[in-house]
Amino acid sequence: AYMIAKEIEQNLTQSSWIRKMFEEGQRLKSIHGTENVFDFSLGNPIIDPPASYFEQLRAYANAPIQGGHSYIPNQGLPEARQKVAEHMNGRFNTNITAQTVTMTSGAAGALNVALKSIMNPGDEVIIFTPYFAEYKFYVGNANGVAVYCPLAEDFTFDFNELEKAISPKTKAIILNNPHNPTGQLIPQSDLERLNQYLVAKEQEWGTEIHVLYDDPYSQLIYDGNVPNPFAAIERLFYISSFSKDLGLAGERLGYLAIRPDFPSVEQYMAAFVFANRTLGFGNATVTVQRMISKMDTLTQEQHEYKKRRDAMVQVLEDAGFEFVYPKGGFFIFPKSPIADDTKFCQVAAEEFQLLVVPGIGFGRAGHFRLSYSVSMEQIERSAPVLKKLKSYFS
Ligand code: PLP
Repeated sequence: AYMIAKEIEQNLTQSSWIRKMFEEGQRLKSIHGTENVFDFSLGNPIIDPPASYFEQLRAYANAPIQGGHSYIPNQGLPEARQKVAEHMNGRFNTNITAQTVTMTSGAAGALNVALKSIMNPGDEVIIFTPYFAEYKFYVGNANGVAVYCPLAEDFTFDFNELEKAISPKTKAIILNNPHNPTGQLIPQSDLERLNQYLVAKEQEWGTEIHVLYDDPYSQLIYDGNVPNPFAAIERLFYISSFSKDLGLAGERLGYLAIRPDFPSVEQYMAAFVFANRTLGFGNATVTVQRMISKMDTLTQEQHEYKKRRDAMVQVLEDAGFEFVYPKGGFFIFPKSPIADDTKFCQVAAEEFQLLVVPGIGFGRAGHFRLSYSVSMEQIERSAPVLKKLKSYFS
């Protein structure tokens, strides 16, 4: 007899690799001291919110609004939705209004709301691998079936693989751009090609294939043009958050937006608001929604991340690791020097006190993920360690 649900019991025994590395990290830190452990395993933003955020917090604390902490509409605070719409319009040259923006509990909440709103039992969701491992649980939450589609060696789309994965049951595909765990950017031309491909499938089968464009690293783009999903993808659910862009991960400030002329827009909006309400987590707290409504801009310079990207790339190159050059986000996904990436990560932890996550945890063995959302000092100090780690396997 199970006390907890079988499915959760199974998931707990399989346990996430990120979690395992976290626990291993805690153990190593208690033995060797925090300063002697090189922890590259976590995806926590290292850059704090801009000064204007704290200014608004102070101003609010000095003059709080009466009733300002009671329930708000399930779609989110109207002025926050308006602010987010303007932010998107500035970025993507669109004409979104507050009406078609739903505030959510992070991009994670938006993904769950989106899936809950469209999935019927047995419907399929295509997930490109390697992938952010939480996706499979979100698909499960909506009683959907996850179908995995490998990206090419260089992590670009492989349309032959997509042709195998797609079917009349495909209700959605999830894109993540910039990409966790590889740091790659899907270029505009690939988004356009993908859209053409999906539209042709929809016409052939008389189905709707929703593109859940998961963009929580939206502003963390260091090279090349910012891709514009609104200019490329027709059946677009745009999903993002300020977890990374503004360092507000703990505040759970995310959103889901569709175009005002999205087919059946009213039904979709009603479904999103219903799902946001009945999933129980609602959207970000009213205070953080109020703060961003008052800020002049939701854009922040990201040179601190770019600096870390450049430094980390240099350290890995000098050590002789092979990887596809990362263009955004804060992850790099090098090849493991040995095929067994779990073994590699174990040796890195035990012999070198260096924590990285095995690629298998993201559905792509033979690699490891490293987060450079860490101090510059840690990146610099890790240079000789990564060299030794690489030579260990040569
Ligand atoms: N999607 C991807 C690809 C992520 O890496 C993350 C967080 O790490 C999320 C979604 C969730 O972000 P949020 O904090 O906005 O819920």
